[in-house]
Amino acid sequence: MDVFKVLRQHSIRPSSQRVAVASYVLSTTEHPSAEQVWRRARRSARVLSRATVYNALNLFERKGLLRAFVLAEGRMVFDPNVERHHHLIDERGRIHDVPWTAVRVAEVRSVGAWDIEEYQVVLHGRRRRTDLTGRTRTDRRSLTRDQERVRDRMATPRGERERHV
Ligand SMILES: [Zn+2]
Repeated sequence: MDVFKVLRQHSIRPSSQRVAVASYVLSTTEHPSAEQVWRRARRSARVLSRATVYNALNLFERKGLLRAFVLAEGRMVFDPNVERHHHLIDERGRIHDVPWTAVRVAEVRSVGAWDIEEYQVVLHGRRRRTDLTGRTRTDRRSLTRDQERVRDRMATPRGERERHV
């Protein structure tokens, strides 16, 4: 991606700090927070304050280069994918894009007293594990018979176990 060109096309003066921020945030699929953007962009810019990063992110958002979402409570993230799409948060808290057509959602124009301007689905999921044959494995590792016996015994309340003896 030619960051200089993209910034100029959006009437943004490509200062070295803005270029450092844009180089990372406009090509990532990680949905980073402002803090994460600052940490990453700092690697390529010698002097880069948090305030400069926040200002650049706000500017990029105003110019339509980025979207800002609050996908989890108190966690604002930035997304260079400005097309309509959904999100999936995995078991490690990472955010993935989900194509708009992958989830069927009814057209919602209003709910109660509110006119709806936009919406998206936030899915929570766990990566499916597959073995070499491509079959799906359950998350629980398979236990040996001895391990199962131990597990079952641990799960049995003491009083009940003694009654069976
Ligand atoms: Zn996204």
